[in-house]
Amino acid sequence: MKNILVIYTGGTIGMVKDENTGALRCFDMKKIYEILPVLKELNCNIETYQFNPIIDSSDMNAKVWLKLSQYIKAVYDLYDGFVILHGTDTMSYTASALSFLLENLAKPVIITGSQLPLGMIRNDGRDNIISSIELAANTDVLIPEVCIFFDDKLYRGNRTTKINAEYFEAFYSGNMPSLAKVGINISYKEHLILPKPEKELKVYENLCEDVAILKIHPSIQISHIDCVANIPNLKGLILETYGSGNAPTNSEFLSAIKRTIEKGITVYNVTQCKAGKVQMGHYAASYALREMGVLSGKDITTEAALAKMMFVLGNFSDKTEIRNLLENNLRGEITL
Ligand code: ASP
Repeated sequence: MKNILVIYTGGTIGMVKDENTGALRCFDMKKIYEILPVLKELNCNIETYQFNPIIDSSDMNAKVWLKLSQYIKAVYDLYDGFVILHGTDTMSYTASALSFLLENLAKPVIITGSQLPLGMIRNDGRDNIISSIELAANTDVLIPEVCIFFDDKLYRGNRTTKINAEYFEAFYSGNMPSLAKVGINISYKEHLILPKPEKELKVYENLCEDVAILKIHPSIQISHIDCVANIPNLKGLILETYGSGNAPTNSEFLSAIKRTIEKGITVYNVTQCKAGKVQMGHYAASYALREMGVLSGKDITTEAALAKMMFVLGNFSDKTEIRNLLENNLRGEITL
């Protein structure tokens, strides 16, 4: 029997109906078998751990990611897999951050949540929890990755983006197909799942919070760029550019980016598109960025880029190493 730890951080999924008042309130994880008795039929032991306080995922941040990864490190040997219940709003950021913090992960870490609370008659939380636990405990295919399970699909977590605030199909992974699909049976795409690492788990202890995102848009003002670049202590700037990495070509814009780089800030180019990649130099509109030393995020998502910059700038200091780490694949987040 596999041992699975379910960690409840908060979010919509954990709201249940109060028996006395009928109002929705937060779920007590210790009562997971009372709320979902069907879990007893899964062939695994389930233990639970509840955040105190539980948080709406809008309050998620680097400090909580570090706590979560350190907690997983502390109990890693006791369990075969981990399921994290989390709000959907920042789920892709958390999945990305954990993927970088947990190097040489050899066990499944599956994050899930729901659009409707467990306490509603019609809800997606029930299936999401059951399938996530089943996937984490499965004995056929090892999934040594940080994943998101949502609406019947298992995704590589650092490839996802929340794209829908209404329907159950809330997540999208434009540059990486799902790793498994749950229907009558579970169909795994084994060739896409990361291999089991040979080395021991290494959990990093730092994330740099001095990172910002600047979305390029028509008529972007130079004062806006300068204002972001002048954030005290800023170390990394993610430029969310158009299409394959394009940005305005006027000299005022380019000078503002150059000034940013000259301050020692690492500038990382990611696309605003939900699929496809940055190819700097493909158009004249990105050639100048490459020439001045902007790094390419290739097909990384903005969520993974933020987590990756926090991770790389928090744990490495050599400029060449930082460049290599950011432009290359570390945890399946970039297709080379
Ligand atoms: N605001 C909630 C959260 O992200 C939404 C959700 O759980 O879906 O925590």
